[in-house]
Amino acid sequence: AFGLENSDHKLKEIQSSMSDHQFKTKLYIDGKWVEPVNGGKSIPVINPSNEQVIIHVMGGTEEDVNRAVAAARKAFEVQSGPNAWSTLDGKDRAKFLRAISKGVADKKELLARLEATDCGKPHREAELDLDDVAGCFDYYAGLAEKIDERQDNGIKIADDRFKSTVQYAPVGVVGAIIPWNYPLLMAAWKIAPALAAGCTVVLKPSEVTPITALEFAQIVHDAGVPPGVFNVVNGYGADVGGPLSRHPEVDKVAFTGSVATGSTVMREASATIKNVTLELGGKSPIVVFNDADITDAVEWIMFGIFWTNGQICSATSRLLVQEEIADRLLERLVEETKKIHVGDPFSKEDPSIGPLVNEIQHKKVLKYIDTAKKEGGKILTGGKRPNHLTSGYFIEPTVIVDVKENHTVWREEIFGPVLSVMRFRTEEEAIRLANDSSFGLAASILSKDEERNKRFVKAFRAGIVWVNCSQPAFYQCPWGGMKQSGIGRELGTYGLDNYLEVKQVTTYQVKESGKWGWYIKSKIM
Ligand code: NAD
Repeated sequence: AFGLENSDHKLKEIQSSMSDHQFKTKLYIDGKWVEPVNGGKSIPVINPSNEQVIIHVMGGTEEDVNRAVAAARKAFEVQSGPNAWSTLDGKDRAKFLRAISKGVADKKELLARLEATDCGKPHREAELDLDDVAGCFDYYAGLAEKIDERQDNGIKIADDRFKSTVQYAPVGVVGAIIPWNYPLLMAAWKIAPALAAGCTVVLKPSEVTPITALEFAQIVHDAGVPPGVFNVVNGYGADVGGPLSRHPEVDKVAFTGSVATGSTVMREASATIKNVTLELGGKSPIVVFNDADITDAVEWIMFGIFWTNGQICSATSRLLVQEEIADRLLERLVEETKKIHVGDPFSKEDPSIGPLVNEIQHKKVLKYIDTAKKEGGKILTGGKRPNHLTSGYFIEPTVIVDVKENHTVWREEIFGPVLSVMRFRTEEEAIRLANDSSFGLAASILSKDEERNKRFVKAFRAGIVWVNCSQPAFYQCPWGGMKQSGIGRELGTYGLDNYLEVKQVTTYQVKESGKWGWYIKSKIM
């Protein structure tokens, strides 16, 4: 009996009837499927395409966090034997990561369908996410092996009485708190490097999309990872995320989510000086110059704001277009945007976008559009629920013009398929407008002028810069933001280093007694 019983069977129900089934899921703690200590809280998971409850998952509370952290601590401390983890060589942990990668690849279709269902993202996007999850574990298996090569490398020092080397040690117990827009991928970005490093993990999925984490726990279990190394505690933010952020036995918190929650997590974690990485929101610019190819520019603008239904932290949601091509570009953008099919994530129509993740997001995005109108913005296309969809949290892909610098839609993260547009004349103006944001996650420049592109790469205050594209993300490359978009970088070798402590080892090499001679001046013969 594990978290999601008979999920293949249940999946059929999810797709066909969408009726309200009460499944009692469990928590995965210390290698076992367990009931929450206090009976837990039943959390309804809604299919945003039809507003029906798919399933109820059991959410835990502080007591369950305590149990999971204790299990993770105990697993971390094991020094030898079949359940050792933190003391294994990287190459031995790599085998487990590869098994997890294979487990995800084998269950890709099920997991992708579940995420398309509870998250609302188009099914083919969910499939790509799952490829990335499997790839991410495989990639960090490779980096786990490379940790061994980095161990005990010498450092040149100016005193030959000593020898100094560096070791890399796992940070310890990691609390991973993740959002709903990439349920398993955001988890993978943390779990894969954490496990590669030798850490143990307590995962707190988003209460909005908690299903696939349960399937994933079973994959980790089946891969033979020792008990307590990986744990999943579903639940609400205040019930599980809060206790995890402040737990004294948690050494590091890795968080992805909103700025407001990130700030709370950082505050909670500060009492015990935890290592913290934060991947937060964004309001990223895409700057298009007169010399850009219109067709390509429109493609990347759309990819930058409509991918994942616009619910992506790095969405290039602020379009800055140079005056001369603005009219032509916007005309084409509207024409292409209108061709997008809005509908069920399993729809075969292409291109398509699905519903927003839940009612809260739907209301929030509609309110932003309303505010834009009140502040003087003009809706060029979209701006409402599509006429053909009376239920589900759908919204038409939206382009807003006549936006000013002080408008709410220009300044705040909307997290939906809503593009705000401003025009500019000069390069200086474009750079100033692009960087004028409290966020600094990503930025994009579209131009044929390579020298100009180089200038923008330097000038953008953002952790990710795209030249002549927007959004491609590769797990080999660092990911994260400047300013209020976060602290630290995930992915690549940078992501692994998040989970490694650097240990200086200095050895006194003089064998002769009494040679140091600071306090003991003369050697007694
Ligand atoms: P959120 O901040 O509401 O929730 C994120 C997670 O934090 C959830 O698991 C939630 O339950 C938990 N949480 C809530 N209150 C908490 C508390 N008091 N203590 C600890 N944990 C708590 O964010 P969301 O709505 O799930 O996701 C959307 C946000 O995530 C957007 O702002 C988006 O930009 C950001 N995001 C960033 C990245 C990135 O890589 N930078 C990626 C995806 C999403």
